[in-house]
Amino acid sequence: MLRTFSLKKDKRSIVPVLLRSLRLRCPACGQSSILKGPFQIRHHCPNCRSLFKREEGFFVGAIMANVITTEFVILVACFVWLFVFRSTYEKALVALFITALIFPVAFYHHSWSLWLGFDYLVESLPKYEKKK
Ligand SMILES: [Zn+2]
Repeated sequence: MLRTFSLKKDKRSIVPVLLRSLRLRCPACGQSSILKGPFQIRHHCPNCRSLFKREEGFFVGAIMANVITTEFVILVACFVWLFVFRSTYEKALVALFITALIFPVAFYHHSWSLWLGFDYLVESLPKYEKKK
């Protein structure tokens, strides 16, 4: 299949895509949510037909985004507990353990959304076409 590119149509800029991703909207059009329900990502955008669930293994990038962000949050929380609150090491470990359990679950939707936005910026999202 031959793909044609139009510079005006294919224009993608970081700030609008990032804002759409943070609001859990389609990174391509921003018109619909990427979520079908809690912890359920839509297969494609009902408005612009951008494919959210691509090939097998695409979700690994979302998991990677979640793990990296969780590690960063735990690192920042560690410094805050130890140096701002001047907490004991044992209390800080309990707080970090709770953070490590809750944050990745709470960040699940946004890790998917940010990964989709990143993928959209790098190579655009393919359009979903029903198989006949
Ligand atoms: Zn869309």
